[in-house]
Amino acid sequence: MAKFNDPLFEYRSMSYRWNSTLKSKPYQLKRSSLKGGKKPRSIRKVEKGSEAWLKQLITRGFSEFIRARDPFCYCGQPSTENGHYFSRSIPATEYDEENCLGSCSPCNQKHESDKEPMKQALIARIGEERFAELERRSWDHGKLTYSELEELAERYKPKRRP
Ligand SMILES: [Zn+2]
Repeated sequence: MAKFNDPLFEYRSMSYRWNSTLKSKPYQLKRSSLKGGKKPRSIRKVEKGSEAWLKQLITRGFSEFIRARDPFCYCGQPSTENGHYFSRSIPATEYDEENCLGSCSPCNQKHESDKEPMKQALIARIGEERFAELERRSWDHGKLTYSELEELAERYKPKRRP
């Protein structure tokens, strides 16, 4: 964690934040206008009871759970997103509590090109051994069954229903 006190690292992350703000301006504007109006983020319309509908419920509830568990990102900023170490496109670890850390938006974006800061934060939390087990779980590319999704939806009930 020493590098977070390194002034050069601070400078790099500041310039990163500046660049990412420029790049993601429309998104940032949309997010801040939503924050002001307390309007829930619009979501894709899916058929109630379908697999996609269950996944929307779980994704929202699971993100609420992770952000409540980790109110701060590993950089020290408040967390606003659920950051996945192994990509969300891997079903086996998409809703794995050990695969996720509450993250700020710049760190979550940066993670796509540099996995090292989150890896260090994860290992500091769960240790090398459990990290290696997590990695093994991520190799399973099987899909979750409908009843597994139902169980997850029950476990991570979102406060705000879609
Ligand atoms: Zn961060």
